[in-house]
Amino acid sequence: MSSVTPTRTEVLVVGAGPAGSGAAAWAARLGSDVVLADAAVFPRDKTCGDGLTPRAIGELERLGLRDWVRAHTVNQGLRAHGFGQTLHLPWPGGSLPDWGSAVARTELDDHLRTTAIKAGATGIDGVRAVDVRRESGRVRAVTFTQGGRSASRSFEIECERLVVADGVRSPLGKVLGREWHRETVYGVAGRCYVASSTHADDPWISSHLELRNERREVLSGYGWIFPLGRDAGGVNLGVGTLATAKRPADVAIKPLMSLYADQRRAEFGLGEELRMPTSALLPMGGAVSNVAGRNWALIGDAAACVNPLNGEGIDYGLETGRLLAELLAEDPDADLATVWPALLRDHYGESFSIARRLAGLVTVPRLLPALGPIGMRSDLLMTLALRWMGNLVTDEDRDRAARVWRWAGRRSLAREARPLFG
Ligand SMILES: Cc1cc2nc3c(=O)[nH]c(=O)nc-3n(C[C@H](O)[C@H](O)[C@H](O)COP(=O)(O)OP(=O)(O)OC[C@H]3O[C@@H](n4cnc5c(N)ncnc54)[C@H](O)[C@@H]3O)c2cc1C
Repeated sequence: MSSVTPTRTEVLVVGAGPAGSGAAAWAARLGSDVVLADAAVFPRDKTCGDGLTPRAIGELERLGLRDWVRAHTVNQGLRAHGFGQTLHLPWPGGSLPDWGSAVARTELDDHLRTTAIKAGATGIDGVRAVDVRRESGRVRAVTFTQGGRSASRSFEIECERLVVADGVRSPLGKVLGREWHRETVYGVAGRCYVASSTHADDPWISSHLELRNERREVLSGYGWIFPLGRDAGGVNLGVGTLATAKRPADVAIKPLMSLYADQRRAEFGLGEELRMPTSALLPMGGAVSNVAGRNWALIGDAAACVNPLNGEGIDYGLETGRLLAELLAEDPDADLATVWPALLRDHYGESFSIARRLAGLVTVPRLLPALGPIGMRSDLLMTLALRWMGNLVTDEDRDRAARVWRWAGRRSLAREARPLFG
C-alpha cells in the first residue's frame, strides 16, 4: 500500500485482478493519473484454472510480459479425452500466438498489479469499495473502508472516471445497478493444486469432456488438468459444470473434484493431497445489464466477460481493461453509458451469443452423452471445436472455419431476446 492514500485521481480502478490491473497499466501508459484499489492484500489467491490460452498470451505480450510468462511453462495445445478417445489438438496459431501457458493466480495477479504500478498507477490494497457519491448523473467519488470491524476507517477517493473490475459478485457494480441474468448459462467450477510425478511439465493441457459423477452419469461440464511446470512440480486440477436458473447444477463441486482426481490419479501420476480446493461461480457471455453509466464502466467478470464454452476469463479481463483504457484516452469525455455497452457488443456480441447458446444446449439432459462420442470420433470436428470453443478466431481470420463461426454468431445475435450487456 502506498504510504499516503490519494484523495483524488483521474481514473480510479476498483479491483486489481487481470481486468483492473490491465486497465490501470494501459490507462497509466496512455498518460492518465490512475489509482488501483483492491479489498485484498496482495499477493492474494483467486479460484481459477490458471490456464492462459493463446488469446491471453496475445494480451500478455502486448503488456510486454512474453518472456516472464515463457519462463513459467509453455504448452502447445489441448489433449481432449473422452468417450473412448484421446485427441491431440495443437493451438491453431494464425493471427494469435501458437502457444499457451498456466501461471498460479497468486503469482500472475501480483505480477500484473506490479506491472500497473510500474507503469505509474498508485496501488492501494486492503481497501474495500462500499459506496459511491454521485453528482449530476456522474460518479464523483468512491467510499472505501479499511481495517477490521474494531479499527475500521472510511474515506473517499474522488475521480473523474471510474473503472469497476471487482469480479464475479461485483459489489460496487451492484451499488451502481449491475444486474446478472442467471437464466442465461453460467458456470459453477472448482480447482485445487496436486503434485504430479509425470505431468507437471507436460506440453499439453488436458480436458476430460466425459465428466461422470459417482452414479456414472455424464455431467454437462468437463474436468481439466493444467500443468504448471517443472519448478511448480504439479498441476491445477479442476471441474466445471454449466447451469441455468431453469437447470441448476445439481452437483457438489468439491466431492466431484476428488472423484475426478481419483479417476485420473494413476494416468497423471497425481499425489493424494488436493491442496487449496475452492469453488466459485462464473458469470458468462455478457449476461449482465447496466454495465456503464456516464463516467463509469464495468470490465472483466463484473461485466460477465467470460467465454461460455471454456470458462476463460483472464484474457477477456485483460482485453476489456485495455479497450476501456484506450477509449478513455481517445475521448476522455465519452458518454460511457452508451459507448461502452456498444463497444462490448461490437467486440464480443457474435462470439458470446453463439457460445452461450451452445453452452445452454449442453445443459439439456442426455444431449452431451449423445453428441460427445460423435464429436470425439472426428479429429476435424474437434479441431474446429477447439478453435470455436476457445474463440480463437479474430477479425483478421478469413478461412472457412472463421467465416462459419462469424456467420453463426451473427444469426444467433439477431435472435437474442435480451441484448448482451443490455
Ligand atoms: C474454478 C474456476 C476456474 C477458472 N479457470 C480459468 C482459466 O483456466 N483460465 C481463465 O482465463 N479463466 C478462468 N476462470 C475465470 C477467471 O478466473 C476470471 O474470469 C478472472 O479472474 C476475471 O478477472 P477479473 O479481474 O474480472 O476479476 P478477479 O480476478 O476476480 O478480480 C477482482 C478483484 O476485485 C477485488 N474486489 C472485489 N470486491 C471489491 C471491493 N468491494 N472493493 C475493492 N476490491 C474489490 C477482489 O479482491 C479481486 O482482487 C476460472 C474461474 C473459476 C471460478
